[in-house]
Amino acid sequence: MNPFVFHNPTKLIFGKDQNKALLEQLNNVGKKVLLVYGGGSIKRNGLYNHVIESLARADKEVFELAGIEPNPRLTTVKKGVEICQKQHIDFILAVGGGSVIDATKAIAAGATSDVDIWDIITKKEIAHSALPFGTILTLAATGSEMNSGSVITNWESNQKVGWGSPHVFPSFSILDPENTLSVPMDQTVYGMVDMMSHVLEAYFHHATNTPLQDRICESILKTVIETAPKLINDLHDIEARETILYCGTMALNGITQMGARGDWGSHNIEHAISAVHDIPHAGGLAIIFPHWLKKSMNERLERHVQLATEVFNVNIDDKSQEEIALEGIERLSEFWTSLGAPNRLADYDIKDDSIERMADIASENGEFGNFKKMNKTSVTELLKDAL
Ligand code: NAP
Ligand code: FE
Repeated sequence: MNPFVFHNPTKLIFGKDQNKALLEQLNNVGKKVLLVYGGGSIKRNGLYNHVIESLARADKEVFELAGIEPNPRLTTVKKGVEICQKQHIDFILAVGGGSVIDATKAIAAGATSDVDIWDIITKKEIAHSALPFGTILTLAATGSEMNSGSVITNWESNQKVGWGSPHVFPSFSILDPENTLSVPMDQTVYGMVDMMSHVLEAYFHHATNTPLQDRICESILKTVIETAPKLINDLHDIEARETILYCGTMALNGITQMGARGDWGSHNIEHAISAVHDIPHAGGLAIIFPHWLKKSMNERLERHVQLATEVFNVNIDDKSQEEIALEGIERLSEFWTSLGAPNRLADYDIKDDSIERMADIASENGEFGNFKKMNKTSVTELLKDAL
């Protein structure tokens, strides 16, 4: 494995009834709080009332930014930055899924900076600080609740860009599985696909001697595979919700990637698809990932074989290494389809007329992917295979 430093300062407050921990956390933050949330799910499930009540009890002056879009937009982030600067906000509270948390990270960094937040997101500038913020997660998926990454879409230029900064780890994140009970079937499935994709991105690397990292990744994948059918059979199964919530955080809080650098090319390709077609992030991943796995079989085939045998229980019998790897990919694809995830671009009515545009966007910074190098030609082939 590679040498590494691990530092994750987010306080994770996890489990049933942990919503009530909010009040205590609020006692440690400044007076003026900006509450950030999405399109209204927190009003429908009652969480909004609880949050407002806690903010009142903690004697906060509350400002609100509602309407963060799935695939959060730069225009909305800028509104948040403006509120923070004008109102001298002390603390941001993000209540929602990955989109609300990602937008909050950009708002927090933009609020304390003189430069345009888009320049920070596109890495022309660096964030030197950020407003502190906490989160209440309502959807198990991205891991954003315990990492320093964020993905923002600039709809004017059709760019969906991932960025990060050590200043945008949440100071606390409350994960109460009750808050995820109202997540509908499609988003529940997308969430599970996204967390599995995060683990798969981490699993495919060129570092050697990573037995513990491998077991951590395989355990998360196996736990999602074991729990997902229970959850889609009963969306109110609180234990399944709790397990999946835990898996989502562990999949992308840094533990899977200690000492090994994951690939992340499939996420890059998916961001190009979403930037043009505004589809759900994990819908795109479910389509792309099996194709990426096939394309990357010429890199360390033994990793593919290990995934197939350790996670998908593929029998070795007298099969070739390629056959074992392909059977593993087939099982992953079948598993996602069995949950109801899409598996072709046509499922979103995406046709070959936008492939060139998507391939251009995915490769605009040149070759990408730490495990399998991809370029415009190979992305074009992959997208054609996925039609
Ligand atoms: P999301 O975009 O935050 O939310 C999707 C939908 O689920 C929204 O319509 C939201 O409604 C609804 N929802 C959320 N919680 C709900 C609940 N408890 N009950 C009912 N509906 C609920 O989904 P996400 O998958 O968490 O985030 C996706 C974004 O994160 C993408 O932009 C993706 O690129 C990014 N991402 C970030 C990271 C990272 O590390 N930072 C990693 C992977 C992906 P409301 O708007 O009404 O709340
Ligand atoms: Fe993701």
